Amino acid sequence: MTSSDSQTQKIRKIPSGATDADHGVGVYVHIPFCERVCPYCDFAVVAARQIDPGVEERYVDALLRELETRRHVFADRQLATVYFGGGTPSLFSPDSLGRIVAAARAAFASGAEPGEVTLEMNPSTTERARLAAFRSVGINRLSMGIQSFDDTTLKKLGRAHKAHESHAMIEAARSAGFENLSLDLILACPGQTFASFERDLDAALAHSPEHLSVYELTIESGTPFALANERGQLDRPDEDLASEMLEHTVLSGAAAGVERYEVSNFAKPGFESVHNRRYWARSPVLGLGMGAWSAEVRGGDMPYGGRLMNPRDLLSYLAAIEEEESDFRVIDCLNEEQARGEAVFLGLRTRKGLNARAFETEFGSPPRTFYAEQIERLMAQGLMTETNDGGLCLTDRGVLLSDTVFTDFV
Ligand code: SF4
Repeated sequence: MTSSDSQTQKIRKIPSGATDADHGVGVYVHIPFCERVCPYCDFAVVAARQIDPGVEERYVDALLRELETRRHVFADRQLATVYFGGGTPSLFSPDSLGRIVAAARAAFASGAEPGEVTLEMNPSTTERARLAAFRSVGINRLSMGIQSFDDTTLKKLGRAHKAHESHAMIEAARSAGFENLSLDLILACPGQTFASFERDLDAALAHSPEHLSVYELTIESGTPFALANERGQLDRPDEDLASEMLEHTVLSGAAAGVERYEVSNFAKPGFESVHNRRYWARSPVLGLGMGAWSAEVRGGDMPYGGRLMNPRDLLSYLAAIEEEESDFRVIDCLNEEQARGEAVFLGLRTRKGLNARAFETEFGSPPRTFYAEQIERLMAQGLMTETNDGGLCLTDRGVLLSDTVFTDFV
């Protein structure tokens, strides 16, 4: 999984509501297999140095069956996006991914062609050799888990690849005709200095990516990194240095034409992630696969939206699908207060901020009606601005302290 998927990871932890603004549906497909499990990762993954073709086929069959049984919930919607996340979905063959793309296209409103079909990849020789074939089955955007161009940093992160493989992968992707590349970097890695992060960023921008995701390393409980951190063995940059790295990313990215449009995401104009914007806009997403979750269409018994979570265990997921169980998903139904907080939190993540009119249409009153104390305090602290019509936006400093700001709303 890439950092943009760690973006999606963060997103996956968000209870989701939904708006019907675009009458579309995004399809998220979780492929959980990884060559090995990175020591900071708490995603839904299964270690598999080589994927048995029988396992791959069985998993794809389960995905297609799940699509078939869940499509009616999103009936009559246009297919907006397909996103293969993981895990490392590029470990699956182009044929397997092509089956899923074709089925998603067939499942929703006739003739719909998703404008954006993203595949997360890790730099490796095997995956590099498949680039042209991936493109031929309809994948038109690659999200690459580069994380760093420094071999020492990569080693400390426990990554399986080396920097030269990342460069080779990016160049091969361009040669294969991909015109929409997203590169993922992690900042505040163990042992990382400002200078080494600066070199990472320069190396990424030298490839002129259309999209860049830059995430601060988070220490997730239960991971080997959490244990090392508790023992004081992680030697991580402090928060001030991490902020400097992020500020530097904003300035260097802008100079290279890659502007920040969300807390951790940067893009050339017109190349913002369509799929991830669905999450921030609280739009419907159908999640397929082990550990995937769906953002349900708002209405009926979920007036404020909700999410359906699949099991994070491979055998449980496969058994539930193959035995045609109907009640194996965890349902998280939002109430009005949760939905309001989520609307503010997700709106504030974006550079455009929270749209007051849309908020009022959904909740009957502008944000200030519900959050006057928080708004006053955050404005006094220089973390937030309020537009004349009541819309809210984070300041640059607010973005740097966004995790703290968000706790005021969710
Ligand atoms: S490549 Fe590493 S970080 Fe990404 S999903 Fe696999 S184990 Fe997790």
